[in-house]
Amino acid sequence: MIIAVDGSAASGKGTLAKRLARHFDLAHLDTGGLYRALALHLMRSGITAETAEEHSAAAQIAALDLELINSPAIRDDSVAGMASVIAAMPAVRAGFLVLQRDFASHPPTGHGAVLDGRDIGSVVLPDAPVKFFVDADIEVRAERRTNELQAAGQSVMFRDVLADMQARDARDRGRSIAPLRAVEDAKLIDTSSLDADQVFASALAHIDAAGT
Ligand code: C5P
Repeated sequence: MIIAVDGSAASGKGTLAKRLARHFDLAHLDTGGLYRALALHLMRSGITAETAEEHSAAAQIAALDLELINSPAIRDDSVAGMASVIAAMPAVRAGFLVLQRDFASHPPTGHGAVLDGRDIGSVVLPDAPVKFFVDADIEVRAERRTNELQAAGQSVMFRDVLADMQARDARDRGRSIAPLRAVEDAKLIDTSSLDADQVFASALAHIDAAGT
């Protein structure tokens, strides 16, 4: 079974993807983690969103330590901002495409794979039999993100998180390559007023109804 989960920042797509993976015994790849890991790798070499250059950024994929995906440091909002800048570069996206497709076709564990990101259903795995598009009102997402960051000990303010999220949404939805969008065959889930259990139940009901 292959499941594609796309959606906006802090929409709950990652939580849903993890739960689906556990439930169906699938391997899970958080593809945002790839862009974040490359962003952090570049930032550690002193490269900024202003100085990042497409082909040298893409060339760094070969040198990337994929263990960085598990590092809490990639969860910082400055890394997310840089990730959305390099994610708009075609050579960077091409560099990660093969890796994502390989993961789906040869999942390291389990009986298939669930990938979450922005372009899984539209570009990476357009033939995935199950696709979700997860979204929520931006104020709700910014509030969730603020709470998460504060719980992790960061002193952030709602209005700054909201502004960062608006800028990142605009880049992710407005870029010319693989923009964030819901494909026609994706099941839309608006999580604005749903908790994680309700989102999961709605996704399971969709999978059952589709008989996948
Ligand atoms: O999902 P997450 O918020 O961790 O993603 C960080 C950034 O990586 C996104 O804002 C987006 O710009 C980029 N991304 C992407 N395509 C994906 C996953 C993430 O462009 N499949």
